Amino acid sequence: EGIDLKKHFGGGGLLSTPTVVRAVDGVSLAVQRGETFAIVGESGCGKSTLGRLLLRLIEATSGDVRYEGQSILSLKPNDVRRLRRELQIIFQDPFASLNPRMNVGDIVGEPIWLHGLAKGSERRDRVAELLNTVGLRAAHADRYPHEFSGGQRQRIGIARALAGDPKLIIGDEPVSALDVSIQAQIINLLEDLKERFGLTLVIVAHDLAVIRHMSDRVAVMYLGQIMELSETDALFDNPLHPYTQALLAAIPVPSPSSRQPKVLLQGDIPSPASPPSGCRFHTRCPHARPVCSQQTPALEATPEGRRVACHFWREIQGAGAGSITAPP
Ligand code: SF4
Ligand code: MG
Repeated sequence: EGIDLKKHFGGGGLLSTPTVVRAVDGVSLAVQRGETFAIVGESGCGKSTLGRLLLRLIEATSGDVRYEGQSILSLKPNDVRRLRRELQIIFQDPFASLNPRMNVGDIVGEPIWLHGLAKGSERRDRVAELLNTVGLRAAHADRYPHEFSGGQRQRIGIARALAGDPKLIIGDEPVSALDVSIQAQIINLLEDLKERFGLTLVIVAHDLAVIRHMSDRVAVMYLGQIMELSETDALFDNPLHPYTQALLAAIPVPSPSSRQPKVLLQGDIPSPASPPSGCRFHTRCPHARPVCSQQTPALEATPEGRRVACHFWREIQGAGAGSITAPP
């Protein structure tokens, strides 16, 4: 029995601001228990919205999310409580997501109290244990968020997420606000915790480099839709979709003598409020043809079991992918 998260919006929209923005539009995916699943795309592509929809932190206009075979929209109050405990989220900016007036002990201990998992000294012991688990000290419980560095604050956020004994953690750009050297530490920590507690991880990122070594599968999103869904190694070895190719080409290559990437993203990301017709990527795609602005490509299954939404992925595979300088 795997964790089965499914999101499908039959052309629905999300009312998050006074304008209707199709933040996530017709996305359907299943996350397997125990895997690290990455959702990647530029800002505004809907990946954070998708993360919040999965946890039912915001309500979908249409569609459904299934968790362990059950629709989370039909859960009874008791089961919603269990869901809120088993599915946790950590945010990009740990400072903004931690209450500045609460000390670390209360921040980390709050879910334990909310879910009635432990009381009094037992709760304090549990908080100390959680702080140790994420590489902090028990004495840190008496301090406040502003006394910590960005990396330490993210560790506090992770300790809080772990407090309810979760099965799945969604990281919404968990390292993008941190220095590169600290990013690796937090990624290593998440990988260790995943092994230790048998977690399922969903990592939302705008940077393919960040998720390359930690994720098992990747969904590449553009303007609320999945463009490509593949195992991570296959995606890096042979990106099928022109957008994935462009994202990979944008990863800085360490050596200045390397070949320049040939596929570059042109122009700005269009507004999600009025996405382009047909293939949403057609205004920026170097391979676009007239049909691309008229017909929306389906998320097609390839013989290798990958998924790609492009009318011409077969042709482009030979021409485009070969010209990309992939980082070693
Ligand atoms: Fe480019 Fe057309 Fe493929 Fe869209 S369908 S990615 S515009 S070639
Ligand atoms: Mg975001």
